Amino acid sequence: MVDPVELIANLVRIPSINPRDRAEPAETALAEHIAGWATARGMRARTEEVLDGRRNVLVELPGDDERPLLLESHLDTVETDGMTIAPFAPEVRGGRLYGRGSCDAKASLAVFLTAMARLAERGPRPRTVVLAGVVDEEHLYRGVTALRRSDLPTPAGAIVGEPTELRMVVAHKGCMRCRIEARGDAGHSSQPWGRTNAIEVAAEVVRHLQQEHAPRLDALARPLVGPPSLAVTMIEGGQGPNVLPDSCVVTVDRRTVGGEDPHAVWAQLRGELEARWPVLVHEPHIVDYSLETDPADPFARSVAASLRASGLDADPLGVGYGTDASKIALDGVPAVVFGPGSIANAHTADESVPLDEVRTAVDVVERVLRTGGVPA
Ligand SMILES: [Zn+2]
Repeated sequence: MVDPVELIANLVRIPSINPRDRAEPAETALAEHIAGWATARGMRARTEEVLDGRRNVLVELPGDDERPLLLESHLDTVETDGMTIAPFAPEVRGGRLYGRGSCDAKASLAVFLTAMARLAERGPRPRTVVLAGVVDEEHLYRGVTALRRSDLPTPAGAIVGEPTELRMVVAHKGCMRCRIEARGDAGHSSQPWGRTNAIEVAAEVVRHLQQEHAPRLDALARPLVGPPSLAVTMIEGGQGPNVLPDSCVVTVDRRTVGGEDPHAVWAQLRGELEARWPVLVHEPHIVDYSLETDPADPFARSVAASLRASGLDADPLGVGYGTDASKIALDGVPAVVFGPGSIANAHTADESVPLDEVRTAVDVVERVLRTGGVPA
């Protein structure tokens, strides 16, 4: 019988810190370890380069229906600076396993692999199962973006492994961040008359966003995640204390909800502001998608049924953080987020995951795979 605890420990021992913008194959040793582990247990495995030698790993267990169920989680972790425990020497203490990535998200990877190994030992396998361990979730989502472009058939359903304390997450927000540049006339500050002052324009725009634009967003509230939001997060302007500013740039962080396209949100904001003020609303520099999977979808119901069979809360949940699930859902795949551990323990100085949740999560996932993602 495969032991998920030993497996998490082995995954934690292989560092896979996201290199951000450096060209380093940071997750590749982990991807190859997983491929070897799966091959030794009768599964097919391969790795695929994403960029700079960084590789996603794909593990496949064939079943009767070739349209797969996708189990997806990420290989990368955040940095280890300031950690109060040994990041890569996993330790089990008080029913928890400690180490960088233990909770986010190597426990989820181990849960998926364990469930697949049990299925490989003894069926039934009504549907092919594919596990994708992807790079770069903690930075620019380039791993899941490459996965969407691979030749994998469109999955019938997907579970994305993140620490949800064994709840089924079906909704989270997305975001659109862009810079708004106010334009003015430069000149001597002793002669301000008749000139457009970029800082004063920016001040009007900020007041408009706060007092007129943001309140309108309340009408777009969704049941599980509430309303979209808009916050001004940065401001920069002016050349000198005695010079009239010809430019002032504010950055806005607009959080989106289900049904909103971040590019359409940007276009709408641009039209609204550029029509009234001498501003340039620059193209978004960050875009992420929101997730809103219908809890009544058969795949979501099959996950809920499995949660109930393990005596767990099966009510669908919305959360504040983003995941790979929203990118997978762009292809029309019903995607839910599920995994052991709490987001409150992710990225922390003493990251850990409770092992009772790990074992329960294996049962939940294994049951979904055995039913082929069809509700009982
Ligand atoms: Zn994560």
